[in-house]
Amino acid sequence: MGAFKVDIDENRSAWTDDKPPYRPAPALASTIEVDVAIIGGGFTGVSTALHLTRRFPERRIALLEAKQLANGASGRNGGMVLNWINGVEHDDPARARRIYDVTRSGIDLIEETISRHRLPVGFRRDGCLEVFTDAARAAAAARQAEWLQSAGVPIRFLDSAELASTLKIGGAAGALFDPHAGQLDGVAYLRALKPVLSNHGVTIFEDTPVLSVREGATCLLTTPGGSVRAKAIVLGTNAYTPALGYFTSGLLPLHSHVISTEPLPLARWAELGWRGVAGFSDDLDRIAYASLTRTGRLTFGGGSNASYGYQYGGRTTWSGPADTGFAAVEARMRRYLPGAADVRVASRWTGPVAVTLSRVCTMGVRGEHKNVYFALGYSGHGITLANLAGRVLTDIYSGDDAQWKDLPFYQQRLLWIPPDPLRWMGYQAYTAMTGRSPRRSL
Ligand SMILES: Cc1cc2nc3c(=O)[nH]c(=O)nc-3n(C[C@H](O)[C@H](O)[C@H](O)COP(=O)(O)OP(=O)(O)OC[C@H]3O[C@@H](n4cnc5c(N)ncnc54)[C@H](O)[C@@H]3O)c2cc1C
Repeated sequence: MGAFKVDIDENRSAWTDDKPPYRPAPALASTIEVDVAIIGGGFTGVSTALHLTRRFPERRIALLEAKQLANGASGRNGGMVLNWINGVEHDDPARARRIYDVTRSGIDLIEETISRHRLPVGFRRDGCLEVFTDAARAAAAARQAEWLQSAGVPIRFLDSAELASTLKIGGAAGALFDPHAGQLDGVAYLRALKPVLSNHGVTIFEDTPVLSVREGATCLLTTPGGSVRAKAIVLGTNAYTPALGYFTSGLLPLHSHVISTEPLPLARWAELGWRGVAGFSDDLDRIAYASLTRTGRLTFGGGSNASYGYQYGGRTTWSGPADTGFAAVEARMRRYLPGAADVRVASRWTGPVAVTLSRVCTMGVRGEHKNVYFALGYSGHGITLANLAGRVLTDIYSGDDAQWKDLPFYQQRLLWIPPDPLRWMGYQAYTAMTGRSPRRSL
C-alpha cells in the first residue's frame, strides 16, 4: 500500500470536555520490531491489545494512535451499549438467542474489565429502550417480544402507559426494553485502560499516524517519526480504514451529529420524565439515539437526513455546514423529550460512523501472509462489538476461533459500494427516498 493522507480531526466532544487535561504518550521516534502492531486507539485497538497481552504476555505489542486514545468514534459516540448485531434479522429463535448471548457476553466483558481493574469510569447497565413511533409497529414489536422471550431472550415490551412511567417520549406508541444494555463513557474507559495496557507491557504511541503499510511476512508501517516492523498488524481504524487502502469499496463513513446538554441532577431529569433507564433509540432508518450519564448529562444524536452526512471522497473530517445538522438533532430532541424544552445544549460535535451496505460488521484476517487482522464496519452499533472484537481477533490470532465461525460478522464479505461520484449521488437519492422510513431490523 502506498502512502496516504491522514484525514483525522481532534475529538472535541462533551466526553473529552468534562475530563482533566490529558497527557498523551510519546510519539514513535525510532524503528522498532514487534510481534503485533495495532493501528488505532479506539475500542477495537485497545480491546485487541488487552486480550492479546493477557493471552500472550511474552509477545511484543505496540499500539499506534494518530492523535490520542478515544480520538475517533469510541470517544464521540452516543454512549449506548447495545445488544444485537446491526443488520441481522432475528427470524430464527436459536440464532436470535445465540446473537443476543454473544453480544451480552461482550457487554459483560466491558463490565468485568471495569471491575477487575477498578476503572473510574461512567458506566451504567440499567437497560435501554427501542421506541416505536407508530401503533402498528409497536403491535408488531409486542409480538416480537413474546417470540424473543420464548426463545430465551429477556426483551420486554412496554406499552405506551408503562413506557411513560419510565421515559416520557413524544409520539411513542410502545417500546422494547433490553435490561442488559447500558451506557459507557468511552473516553474515560479508554484513558483508564492506558496504564493497564502499559503495565502488561503494551507500548502505546500517541500522535503517531501510520502513513503507509507494506505487507509481507514482516509488515512495515511508516509514521512521521519512525517505523515499525511487525509480524502481524491489526486495523483498528474503523471509518478511517479506507485511507489505509483497505476496504475502500466496503465502508461508507457517515458523519453523525451529536449534541449534549448541561448536566442536571437525576432527580430533575426524573421530574422531566426520564427515570431509571440508560438510553433509547427510535425505530426509524435515520436512527435517533440518546443516553443519560449518571452525572445527568444527556447526549442526543441522529434523527434526520441532516444529522447524518456523507462527504464527497469519503472524507472522515466533517467540513460541511456547521449548524444545519445540529439544529436538526436539537429539534428532534425537543420533539421526543418535550419535558426538556428548556434544558440548555452545552456541546455539539460530529464523528464518523463506518456503515456497510448490509450494516453487518466484519472481523477476520486477510493478506497473502494471513497476518493483517481487522474488525470494522459496526454501522453505529460498535460499542459492544468493537470491545468484543479484541477477543474475537485474539482467538483468530491463536487459531482458537471455532466458537465465532457461525456468527454473521466472522470473515463477513462487505458488499460493494460504488466509488464517487456514483456513491455520493446514490447516498443523496437513498436518503431522499428513505429519510422518514422505519428501520428494517432491531
Ligand atoms: C456520533 C457517533 C455516535 C455513535 N453512537 C453509538 C452508540 O450510541 N452505540 C454504539 O454501540 N455505537 C455508537 N457509535 C459507533 C461506535 O462508537 C463505533 O462503532 C466504535 O467506537 C468503533 O470503534 P473503533 O475502535 O473500531 O474505531 P474508532 O473509535 O474510530 O477508532 C479508530 C482510531 O484509529 C485512529 N486512526 C485512524 N487512522 C489512523 C492511522 N492511520 N494511524 C494511526 N491511528 C489511526 C483514529 O484516530 C481513532 O482513534 C457511534 C459513532 C459515532 C461517530
